Amino acid sequence: MPGYEWIGETEKEHINDVLETGILFRYEFPNERKGIYKVKEFEDKFAQFTGAVYAQAVTSGSAALKVALSALGIGPGDEVITQGFTFIATFEAIIEAGAVPVPAEIDQTLNLDPIDLEKKITPRTKAVIPVHMLGSPARIQEILDISRKHNLKVIEDTAQALGAGVGGKRLGTWGDMGTFSFDFYKTITTGEGGMVITNDRELYQRASEYADHGHEHNPNVGRALDGRSFLGFNYRMNELQGAVGLAQLSKLEDIIQRQQQNQELIRETLESRDGIVMREIPEKGKDSYTHVCFFLPTAEKAQAFQQHIASKGIAAIYFKNNLWHLIHNWEHLLERKTAWPGPHPFGGALYGSEMTYSKEMLPQTMAILEKTVVLPIFLQMDEDHLRRMVVELQAAAEEIL
Ligand SMILES: *Cc1c(COP(=O)(O)O)cnc(C)c1O
Repeated sequence: MPGYEWIGETEKEHINDVLETGILFRYEFPNERKGIYKVKEFEDKFAQFTGAVYAQAVTSGSAALKVALSALGIGPGDEVITQGFTFIATFEAIIEAGAVPVPAEIDQTLNLDPIDLEKKITPRTKAVIPVHMLGSPARIQEILDISRKHNLKVIEDTAQALGAGVGGKRLGTWGDMGTFSFDFYKTITTGEGGMVITNDRELYQRASEYADHGHEHNPNVGRALDGRSFLGFNYRMNELQGAVGLAQLSKLEDIIQRQQQNQELIRETLESRDGIVMREIPEKGKDSYTHVCFFLPTAEKAQAFQQHIASKGIAAIYFKNNLWHLIHNWEHLLERKTAWPGPHPFGGALYGSEMTYSKEMLPQTMAILEKTVVLPIFLQMDEDHLRRMVVELQAAAEEIL
């Protein structure tokens, strides 16, 4: 699954470039830094890889979502629709922006269900965040069509699907903005880090200002005299992270290719079994091969299958019980517990409405996830391990199906 498995010499070389100058800050120090701008170079190469015009590096994937929402001017009183199956950061970023997260169902893609998305739109809805979960695309074209019809902005949370695409167009470049994470578990890592991409010059400028206390980054004046048109915050990536990011990015094509090879035998084994249905990939969709996801006929069988595999020492996830990726298991969100004592943002005058959450609100998501088993794919799965996985998957299928 992750780039951390391949941290090595290239990362050291890029980090040494930075340490030799001693300049860890991404801006300023033109004489001391000897032409080394790792974060800037990482942004440029990342934009190139995804096919976006602009990229803004930030401190995390969570920050990337917050920065994108802020660039789009989304805040108190606004509703943002996203799926109930995602990493909790998607919800947290909406709340941090002062807006209200509205959960929608997933479908057999394990991503946002366009039909339910349309049902959840209200006069307060300003944006949609489809999340490309577990390496595979959402029905992005349909989601965009609905969003355009209702004049909604689209931020693609692509934290888990760097390199995936639809019809040759990479995920993250379909919506108004795309966000990525480089935390330690993602396809490439900078320890912590994130990226916002867009093709819109003004949105990029706003993102870059918001992520750096409002600095306009005017190349003709020094930092102290830089102009500002609104208040921001600090989400700056530093040069050490940029250095690791550049090294990791140079390996990304190889990482994806190795993962594709690693998952092939596993996917073929599962596909050929009656009673197992693979996760749906939208037409012309291309996976980034971080996970193999499949459905069993019942919740009992799915849980038994996952337990059987896990008991043999093979990583397998039953997301219905996962504490961090499914709204049903977020008791603090269900109770609307934020760091603020008041009802904001779920109620009160700014919102002018009242949002509540419950375990019953996404029955379709629950019905899908209770039958879902997920196998994470790792770079270091060698021939022996893969063959053993196939044997155990077949044994589990014999016993349970
Ligand atoms: C990892 C992740 C994030 C948050 O990224 P961090 O860098 O850990 O803050 C956001 N959304 C999804 C779907 C993620 O998987």
